[in-house]
This record gives sequence, structure tokens and C-alpha cells, in this order.
Amino acid sequence: MSIPKRVLVSLMIWALVLCSTPRANAGAYDGHPKLVIILVLDQFRADYLERYKSDFKARGFNLLMEHGAYFTDCYFGYANTETAPGHSTIGTGAYTDGHGIGSNEWWDLARNKERPVTSVEDERYALVGLPAGAKTAPGSSPRNLLASTIGDELRLDTVGVSRVYGVSLKDRAAILPAGATANGAFWIDPATGRFITSTYYMPELPDWAQAFDDGPRAAQALTEAQAPTDTKNFYRVVGATPAAVSYELDFAKALITGTGLGKNPTTDLLTLSISSTDILGHKVGPDAEAQREMVDTVDADLDGFFAWLDKNVEGGLGNVWIVLTADHGIAPVPANAAKLGLDAATIDLNKLVDNLNFAVNQKFSPGEKIQYLLPRQSLPYLELNEAEFERAGINEQEAEQAVQDFVPQAFASLTVHSDDKGPVTAKLPPSPELYRTYTRQQMAAGQLPNTPFGELIAHSYTSNGGWYVMVIPRAFQMAAFAGGGTNHFTPYSYDRHVPLVFYGAPFAPGTYRGLVQPVDIAATFASLLGVNQPSASIGHVLTQALKPPSAVVYPKPAPAGHPHPSRRRAASETKQ
Ligand SMILES: [Zn+2]
Repeated sequence: MSIPKRVLVSLMIWALVLCSTPRANAGAYDGHPKLVIILVLDQFRADYLERYKSDFKARGFNLLMEHGAYFTDCYFGYANTETAPGHSTIGTGAYTDGHGIGSNEWWDLARNKERPVTSVEDERYALVGLPAGAKTAPGSSPRNLLASTIGDELRLDTVGVSRVYGVSLKDRAAILPAGATANGAFWIDPATGRFITSTYYMPELPDWAQAFDDGPRAAQALTEAQAPTDTKNFYRVVGATPAAVSYELDFAKALITGTGLGKNPTTDLLTLSISSTDILGHKVGPDAEAQREMVDTVDADLDGFFAWLDKNVEGGLGNVWIVLTADHGIAPVPANAAKLGLDAATIDLNKLVDNLNFAVNQKFSPGEKIQYLLPRQSLPYLELNEAEFERAGINEQEAEQAVQDFVPQAFASLTVHSDDKGPVTAKLPPSPELYRTYTRQQMAAGQLPNTPFGELIAHSYTSNGGWYVMVIPRAFQMAAFAGGGTNHFTPYSYDRHVPLVFYGAPFAPGTYRGLVQPVDIAATFASLLGVNQPSASIGHVLTQALKPPSAVVYPKPAPAGHPHPSRRRAASETKQ
């Protein structure tokens, strides 16, 4: 007697159901993965990964590029490519119009009439961990960040069980990507290199951080950097050398061990920003041999760091997700670009501001020398002295309009003129040239071209600070940078192109050449972790790089009562 086909099919379905084990929750709530690391290389243009590929050894960049989902075409979608906004974007999945951070510092006359405030300084708090006798400075916090981060969402959805930390040599790069609910953020005291924090996070350094600072590690970095032992500027002197990369990674290891990060029932997150690529890069530019050596050092040190994670996170690297990206790229040193024929001029920003002050005085207060533009300017936002305009009875619209009207002639006055009237036989030297200007009010009202370029500008609107006019010079041009060197701050591709590589269980290894953006990091992680996207997120989930859920495999937890010896040791060191 044969079994009817219908019964056979239903038996087969039941057999399948019975054989398959219940699918574990592949999200943050049961620790899949144990640890997420957002690895940011400060000032690291994406083309470095291709350019120096043949230098890479072992399992540093190669681990990520060969075993991860490698996106070759990741570009920031805004025009103010600086450190504080870049790190905010990586954490929040939003641009400046969403997270509020427009630059590294800006004038906030309500808080300080003497100097610009930094993106993270906060006089309501104090710094923690400074050496005795150090100059006092305001504390720090993410007070200006208007949006939540992926770390905040993880903390919210696990009701504070997941832990989130930020580490960098720079305060802004430690604080902003981690977010408001972070358990801690650590950066260095620029003078001594000691890792410090702020009373915003904790009243005193945890024991493990104190032990790191009191230990021999900073002295070792000074020796490796061949720096004088009594240097008063660890940040500049050691920070610009390869010695600072392993110094920073060693602190990250101390943090992971000391806090027991990755040993939680739910997923923990670390944002780790390597600063030395930027500190050196400004001095020497992207094409210098010294910067190539720095990139190769990062590669070698990441190899060591990843190997350490494999040993020290429960279940190894299989329980870790890593995303590699950068906060911005960099322009070539203007002289180098000019040599090849580009109009790569440097701009005398002080002279530009003087010219503007003169022109605005002529219009509103002839014969006077009122400082209508604030001192200590940096592009792309020229900041206006609201108080002086208001004293003269001029409102924001008139003030910004006047400055905007005068910018072209102020730029023209910087032009290098040749007296020679006849045709020249050699290429003329490049001159500063203006590309576009937008007032704060135009940007706030969205009075911008309905084009991809207009969108970059719309994403650069900030409500932090006062009145301003956004000034964009022609490509490859920038304000002269102290001691030569180069800078980043523009909407041009070289400043917006950054690496994006995801490594971890859910990511399908491969090279992906579609255009993506750093805002997609938070969106993708939020989806995979099963939490909400950050409050202002505009990113897309990068579904093209995801394995089908059935193919995502995590290491099995160690049987209870038999922890791995190294894990038992690490757990006993856990302080908080
Ligand atoms: Zn920089």
C-alpha cells in the first residue's frame, strides 16, 4: 500500500521542523555579537587601501578586505568634512543638519566672548585624570550632539545592560561617535599623553585606566618616538609618529580587559578612533613616504590588535563585528597638486577676513574699524559678530547678505597678478578662486539648488553657533596651513572618500563597488542588532553585503562552569 502523496509531503515538512533547532536570536539581546568595534582612522582617504595594498601583511587590513564586505566607494554626503562632524556622522547615521556638529570649534557668544568653544568642551563638568598641577580646562561632554548614536540605541533597547565606550587621542573623536549614554569616553591630556575623561562620565578614573596612566606605557611611547622625555606636547610630538598607534591600541586593550567589554549577556560597543594618521597627515600630506609608513604601521598594529581580540573576546573574532571607516579624507599638498597642473592655490584667510571687515565697514559704518567678522576663522563657515551687527541695527538677513555679496571681491583681491600684458610661455601660478557661498538663513530655509551638490550643502547646515556664511573655494584650494601641509573641509571627493569595510558573522565577504555613505553604518548595525536606528539616521541598510540569516553562524558559548583559563583571569580583573 502506498502512502498518499499529500501525507508524504506533510510528513516531510514535519521532519524538517523537528530536525531544525530553534533559531537563536541573532541580535543584541542575547549577545550576537559579543562586541561591536567601530574603528575610525582619522584622515584616511579610501584610496590608501588600494594604493598601499602590496605593503599590507598578515591579518591587519587584509583580514578586513579579504574576509569582510569591502565597499570601495563610500563618500560622505555633506560639505563640511572635519573631525567632529565626521565622527558624529559615523555614530548617528546623520549629517550635520541632523546631529548639529558643524565643525571642530565655533563661536558661541552666549557661552564665551573670548574665543571659539570646541565641539565637546563643557564648563559644567571637569576633566578627570589630569596630572597634578596641570592647567585647568573645562570638562567635556556630547552636549552639542543633537541626535542619538547607534551606541545610545543599544543602551536604550537593553535598558542600560549593553555597555558603550569611546577611545581616541582626541576628545571629540572619543566622545561624539559614542554618544550621550556612553559609559565612558577616554582621550589624552595633550601635554602628557595620560588618558583622561570628564565628570560627565565618572568622578574618577577606573582602576585599570589609572594603572595604565601610572605604568610605563607613555614613557615607552616617548622612547619609541625618539621624543624628549620632558616634552610638553605629547599630542603633537608623539601623536604624529607611529609610536602613538600602538599606545592607543594598548589603552583600548586595557579598557576591554578592565571593563570586561564583550563579556555581557547583551552586545557591547567600542568606538575607537586612531588619531595619528591625521596629526601626521596635516604636516606631510597624503603622498609623503612618512604617511605611507604610518599606514603600514596601522596595518601591522591592527594585525596585533585583531589577534589579541581573537584570544580575549569570548569565542574569539567570530563573536566580534568590526567596521573600518574614516572621519574624512584629505587634499593633496597644494604645491604638489599645482606642480601637476591643478589650480591648487593657498588662501590668505586673515587677509580675506580683513578685506571683508573693510568692505562691511564701508557699507554700514564708513570710517570705522568694527570687527564684523569674528577672529580665528576657519573655512568653510565664516562666522559673523552678531553683537556688532546688532549694535549697528543690522539684522541677520542683511548682515549675511552683505558678507555674501562682498566675498567675491575679497577673493579677487587675493589674486596673484602678473604685470606681463603679453601671452605667457609658462603656466600661470594658481590664484585663490571662489566656487560658491551660502548664508546660514539660505541653508536653514533650504534655498539651495535641487542637485546632488545642493544636497551636500543642505546636509552641512548647523544650528549650533551664530550667524555665518558658508564659503567654498575652488577644488584643491585651502587656507594656508601652519608650516605648509594640507587640510580637509570641503565638498570635494578627496575630502569625502573614506574606507568602509564590515567584518563579522553576518557580512558576505566581497568587494562592493556601489556608492554608499558612512551614514549607512549605523543603519546597518541597528538592523542587524535589532535596535532602532539613531534618532536622526538617514542611512540605508547595506542589504547587498548581508548573508542570509540561516548562514550566519556564531561560536557556541563555552559550557557553563568551564570557562577558558584566560577568560577566568580576565573576568577577575573586571572592575565595572
Ligand atoms: Zn584633521
